[in-house]
Amino acid sequence: MKIALIAHDKKKSDMVQFATAYRDILAQHELFATGTTGQRVIDATGLNVKRFRSGPLGGDQQIGAMIANNDMDMVIFFRDPLTAQPHEPDVSALIRLSDVYQIPLATNMGTAEVLLKGLEKGFIDWRLIQERRN
Ligand code: PGA
Repeated sequence: MKIALIAHDKKKSDMVQFATAYRDILAQHELFATGTTGQRVIDATGLNVKRFRSGPLGGDQQIGAMIANNDMDMVIFFRDPLTAQPHEPDVSALIRLSDVYQIPLATNMGTAEVLLKGLEKGFIDWRLIQERRN
């Protein structure tokens, strides 16, 4: 499965904690991330992560493009709900596209844990039988 990891600045420690706790599951999948989040995860876990641009510089949109191409299976996006983001339209667009294409999306650690446990049990295998367009 292709999994995107994104965390706003005040949530990056949460993402590192999450990726460390679920390293073994994440390691079995293809990981993508916005620039800074990806670097933090790589530094902390040694996981293989393809990094896009930083979120405010277009990284969210690059991940959104993968979703629109039916080329992303899950999005874990730890948003900061208490801080205004300069790229709020990109954040909204990414969440919107996840809904348009029915891509499992977690915006906090509680839901992310449920998604990864479901992933491990095969609850998202329906994604594999969908034809990929790329
Ligand atoms: P970053 O981007 O991982 O490069 O900080 C995340 C975001 O703010 O969307």
